Amino acid sequence: MTFQDFSLLPVLQKAITEAGYTQPSLIQQKAIPLLLQGHDLIGCAQTGTGKTAAFVLPILQQLTQNKPTTSGQIRVLVVTPTRELTLQVEATFTQLGSGLPFRSQPIFGGVSEGKQIQALHQKPAIIVATPGRLLDLLRRNLIDLRHLEALVLDEADRMLDMGFIHDMKALLRFLPQQRQTLFFTATFPDTIRKLIPLFLNNPMQVDA
Ligand code: AMP
Repeated sequence: MTFQDFSLLPVLQKAITEAGYTQPSLIQQKAIPLLLQGHDLIGCAQTGTGKTAAFVLPILQQLTQNKPTTSGQIRVLVVTPTRELTLQVEATFTQLGSGLPFRSQPIFGGVSEGKQIQALHQKPAIIVATPGRLLDLLRRNLIDLRHLEALVLDEADRMLDMGFIHDMKALLRFLPQQRQTLFFTATFPDTIRKLIPLFLNNPMQVDA
């Protein structure tokens, strides 16, 4: 299988070539077609499998093809357990979306929030965030997710291990009903199994 088989936009094909990817990884081969069809998805994958590009590419394609309901709204949210992963995922959006007009913004705790709040005024379409700081800004109405089209919970099992279960559940009431949801996890403890039906609607499952 090649990247040409996915019918991705030429601007994404170009970014893939520039990133030096020659062949889609296993998780990309399985996940990209399902995500382009609009399915909710459980991805069973560890870091290093190419899981980030597996969701970034179809999300960028859909952002380009779907008409936003209103302009200047947050359309994509990726939640990750750590600052490092947040920065890594945001960098992948920037790299693969370099030919597209979407701004992305990382949001994480442990640093002053002033700059992050200011950056939100520049109307990012994509937010990549850790749970604590995200919930803090949501509760203060500084982030509005009512127009969200896609939600990704990345390394969900690690988020639980780090004690973010309450934040993950608290996120639910800020989300619109109608959206595509992706759940990436390397393991399936009971806590993860119970969380899945709260977030996902008829999900497909793929393994790396
Ligand atoms: P990830 O599993 O998302 O953390 O990705 C691991 C690394 O693989 C990252 O450095 C990516 O840039 C790289 N990568 C992702 N997809 C591909 C691909 N199809 N071919 C080569 N490298 C890739």
